[in-house]
Amino acid sequence: MYTDIKTILDDAVKNHYAVIAASAVNLELARGIIGAADAEQAPLIILLGQGQMTRHARPEVMVPLFKTLAEETNVPVALILDHGRDWDMITKAFRSGFSSIMIDASAYDMQENIKRTKKVVELCHAQGVAVEGELGHVGQAATMDGLDTSMYTKPEEVIEFVNATHVDSLAIACGTAHGKYPDGFVPTLNFDIIREVKKVTNVPIALHGTSGAGDENIKKAVEAGINKINICTDIFNYCRDNSLKMLQENPNYDYLQFLIDVEQKAKEITRHFISLSGSTGKAANFKKTYNFNHDISKIDVGVGE
Ligand SMILES: [Zn+2]
Repeated sequence: MYTDIKTILDDAVKNHYAVIAASAVNLELARGIIGAADAEQAPLIILLGQGQMTRHARPEVMVPLFKTLAEETNVPVALILDHGRDWDMITKAFRSGFSSIMIDASAYDMQENIKRTKKVVELCHAQGVAVEGELGHVGQAATMDGLDTSMYTKPEEVIEFVNATHVDSLAIACGTAHGKYPDGFVPTLNFDIIREVKKVTNVPIALHGTSGAGDENIKKAVEAGINKINICTDIFNYCRDNSLKMLQENPNYDYLQFLIDVEQKAKEITRHFISLSGSTGKAANFKKTYNFNHDISKIDVGVGE
């Protein structure tokens, strides 16, 4: 069933587990990750980023695909615009039927972050679309941003941010970074930040840049209170590496069979991450009654800023 991140993550908070949020930019990844959630009977969040939409996966094409696949399974599946930064892209995602939107204004200072996040929340909540914000800044693995503790979330700022914006999910920075780390590097996470944030709010907490963090860090992050685990690079690279291996072993691969087998690889790696998150079997917590009512025809989303 197609739903939003609030529906999914509120249950994760209540029952102390995390949900995998995985990127999908084509049919094979979409079927692979939703197939994994179905096999594990786990709720799932699909990530689609601004750059991915611009470069390849147009929302006009992808959203109907995700919705169709989501409605073919009993497990709750949400779709979120990942790291929405530009008003035009946020409203495009909103109009295209995303059930959830992330507004990432974490590059700005706290007050500007609040102002921009609040504006998106007001637009989205009016139509039952859930919103994730980011406090602290999750940077890039390539520049080792995860080591810069000045970018980490300050737990003492969380209450003000959450109360002022009314976000449905909060991305925090505590040592991870986006993309691929140098070979052999495993990030050190500050789990105390997760625990401190958990103490002060019931808003679900999201961990971004989890690729390359390793199984132990993921399990400890879930124990500490993380409710959403974003994974892109590890799934993409697993599919790429296996594609290379499969083609080297069989250069005359039937192309359709190759695509079907790549989908199986996406399913395999996503099932692995689901098994670390504590969400296996949790689809049973969701009744097929949800409130998502996304009728954007009656709303004026305004002009760009
Ligand atoms: Zn992210």
